[in-house]
Amino acid sequence: MIGAGVAGLAAACTLVEAGRAVVLHEAAKAAGGRARSYDDRALGVRIDNGNHLLRSGNVAAMGFLRRVGAEGTLAGPVEPVFPFVDLGSGERWTLRLGKGRIPWWIFSPSRRIPGTRAWDYLALLRLRRAEQDDLVAGLVGDAGALYETFLEPLAVSALNTMAAVASAAPLRAVLAETIERGGAATVPRFAKVGLSESFVDPALAWLRERGAEVRLGSRVTAIDPAQQTVLAVPAWVAAELVPGLVVPDAFEAIWNAHFLVDVDPGEAGFWGFVGGTAEWAFAKPGVLSVTVSAANRYAEVGNEAMVARVWGDLARAFGLGETIPPHRVVVEKRATFAAIPAQLRRRPGTVTQNPNLMLAGDWTDTGLPATIEGAIRSGNRAALALLRQN
Ligand SMILES: Cc1cc2nc3c(=O)[nH]c(=O)nc-3n(C[C@H](O)[C@H](O)[C@H](O)COP(=O)(O)OP(=O)(O)OC[C@H]3O[C@@H](n4cnc5c(N)ncnc54)[C@H](O)[C@@H]3O)c2cc1C
Repeated sequence: MIGAGVAGLAAACTLVEAGRAVVLHEAAKAAGGRARSYDDRALGVRIDNGNHLLRSGNVAAMGFLRRVGAEGTLAGPVEPVFPFVDLGSGERWTLRLGKGRIPWWIFSPSRRIPGTRAWDYLALLRLRRAEQDDLVAGLVGDAGALYETFLEPLAVSALNTMAAVASAAPLRAVLAETIERGGAATVPRFAKVGLSESFVDPALAWLRERGAEVRLGSRVTAIDPAQQTVLAVPAWVAAELVPGLVVPDAFEAIWNAHFLVDVDPGEAGFWGFVGGTAEWAFAKPGVLSVTVSAANRYAEVGNEAMVARVWGDLARAFGLGETIPPHRVVVEKRATFAAIPAQLRRRPGTVTQNPNLMLAGDWTDTGLPATIEGAIRSGNRAALALLRQN
């Protein structure tokens, strides 16, 4: 196993469960890759590299947590509720989906998105025929308030790509596995303590207890073609290790800031924003963490100016003062591949020309955007493909 992000950890667990002897190489000193927690000494708190939102319908992610005994480490509201704040108008609303399969919420003016009418939601049916080359804006951009206050911000945060250029197909896949399956599959979930406490440390302990060897700080520089291998590194590393492999090569940044401030977490523990710079904020005891997705558009804005903008959003949303509290900015420059049609065509499948070598990672062709769910699914798939070899 090469790479101990969530894809590599999932693959390793599947192989170990099938009785294979696994050696897991991870280049960094800590596992987790793009979903990790660390102690921030300057702030004196433990933080994640960035907010990660999952849904109860993320079946592979939930199955992974169950397997390693970490299913109790997620938090979130009991109901499928998504509180929003419009930073322009100050309006607040909570999208309440209800747990059933039939979307009754669409017919209730107090539960649906403000400014929308029941029939506007027929636009969601148009998404069902999304092909890879259809753009989100092209397919549903005419859906008025439903687009502006829901589908566009959803596309930006779920695909980490601006809706004007993003492919509608992965958004369709997300909706098919969550909202279309009903509210019970759409309950928001996030790490109670930290990403490492949920997705990484329990998996490492589970693997070690079962005899797997975990080598941290072990950067692999060449692949032995005779050795059965799952390659679960980021796309650009895979391209270096496997000559001729075509992988996504355009990426989008995610900009996160963690502020030392106590905010009442409310019903959900997080809020979605429209009309501001930030897309989401998560409240944990003493820390308010903010996410700006598809952040390449802000590459020329310095971090200090970004912090000022984002704090302006927070101050408006939560009635906080002008003084910016101690904070940490974490920018993941290559957070995910850009979910545009030309990049989706570059996603390879699991198998390679070498029957001993399988590929895993959120950038492989899972049909989903680059997410924990996609990464875990790709890891499980790569392990099963390797097991089928003999
Ligand atoms: C800020 C941010 C916010 C996000 N928000 C969400 C969200 O809300 N919901 C969601 O589902 N997803 C979200 N994601 C996406 C999610 O984090 C990723 O899809 C997922 O973590 C990718 O896992 P992976 O295992 O495919 O890749 P990685 O996590 O990149 O793992 C690859 C691993 O390989 C290691 N490696 C690299 N080279 C070598 C080598 N030569 N030898 C050995 N090891 C090597 C790396 O160190 C790394 O640990 C977010 C990502 C970021 C960055």
